[in-house]
Amino acid sequence: MPLQNKHLAVVLQNTYLPFIFEEAEALGIKMTFFYNQEEAEPTHLKHVQKFIPIDLFQAPEKALEVIKTEHNQNSFDGIMTIYEPALEFVAQLAKELNLPGLSPFVISNCRNKQMMRKILKDSNLNTPYFKEIKNEEEVKDLLLTYPVVIKPSNGFASQGVSRANNKEELIDSIEKVRRVNEEDLGKFTKNKTGIVIEQFIDGPEFAIETFSVEDKVYVLSIGYKGNSKGPFFEEGVYIAPAPLEENVLESISQEAARAATALGIENGPAHIELRLDPAGKPYVIEIGARIGGSGISHYIVKESTGINYMELVFYYVLGLKPPALKDKGQQKKVVGNYIIPVQGHGIFKEIQGVEDVHRDSEVKRVIQFITKGTEIFPYPHFSGYPGFILTTHDSYSDCEQYYRYLDYKIKVVYDNKVNA
Ligand code: ADP
Ligand code: CA
Repeated sequence: MPLQNKHLAVVLQNTYLPFIFEEAEALGIKMTFFYNQEEAEPTHLKHVQKFIPIDLFQAPEKALEVIKTEHNQNSFDGIMTIYEPALEFVAQLAKELNLPGLSPFVISNCRNKQMMRKILKDSNLNTPYFKEIKNEEEVKDLLLTYPVVIKPSNGFASQGVSRANNKEELIDSIEKVRRVNEEDLGKFTKNKTGIVIEQFIDGPEFAIETFSVEDKVYVLSIGYKGNSKGPFFEEGVYIAPAPLEENVLESISQEAARAATALGIENGPAHIELRLDPAGKPYVIEIGARIGGSGISHYIVKESTGINYMELVFYYVLGLKPPALKDKGQQKKVVGNYIIPVQGHGIFKEIQGVEDVHRDSEVKRVIQFITKGTEIFPYPHFSGYPGFILTTHDSYSDCEQYYRYLDYKIKVVYDNKVNA
């Protein structure tokens, strides 16, 4: 057990998604968890050795000090986060503490959509038209081929991302992104308030989970992520493996692996979102140097292939050589994450139907994020997803059928109105 008794620092994590904690416990890793001080101490995480509150976004200097002081007294073998807005901070810290991790340069290139696009383009990857702008003045004379997608340069969780079919909608969307940058993302992104316009890639979306070892990129899983046409891009399903022909899987794998390499993800995990255009050409939408979905990608990979993704990442961040990976993974089962649609806005009351589906043999876990009384704002603002239903199935069509049933069965109820 090479990971036994290693000391890992974890910076911020949605504690409703327990995969990182559970896997650390199973492997005998000692964990210090720097949690968000706005939340209650997550004492339900029995295995975590030490909880230390930080206020990463309001007081980053102080947070840095707290973590460094702890490391001096009780040194870590590694530090990590799978929370997107904390990645740059942790990369900087790993560098200063001389712990394993990708350089802050690599991480910030992935975090910035304009930089990411530029790097992919310079590396000859398939790239849609893209342009960074500051305000609507700049688009007045721009000749664009519609539809386009508008998004915050440093956003996450699809916040403020929308589609525009003409100049009028574009100008309207720019104003929306500006507000999302200011009101929702400002806390995380500080002065990084750019806006990116991209050509809309009209075709199905896939999530690719990779793990790199000394520049070699292993594609662990390719899953289907829906085919949203907008105008907003609320996430819906994630089902793996995606039911695609061998040659399509191969072209997706190659494009994803080239993207990881282009961005300098030489070691460790990457979560890549990609769409196929109507001709079947793969376009990377974005890439994150982390396990996706706050740990959901770990669940998907582990349940569908048997590969313990989180364990691989622990090896990497703890400075140990991970077990050898094969070029082609094995497929065990079809697994999915059904993201409960927000279905409206208002004062959240309950999710109907959850109790019943809990009993179905397909359902492995139900994770609910919002609690009674929480105010859910209308799109494009994002108050978080109501919950996830994690499932496994014998075949892809079984999964599709079950999700159609969930569409009808699961109803989010708000106090001011019931959404059908
Ligand atoms: P975020 O970092 O906020 O998740 P993304 O760039 O991943 O932003 O965009 C969120 C979603 O919007 C994507 O998952 C995809 O469905 C859609 N999207 C973004 N850019 C494009 C594009 N150029 N073409 C088609 N869909 C896109
Ligand atoms: Ca995304």
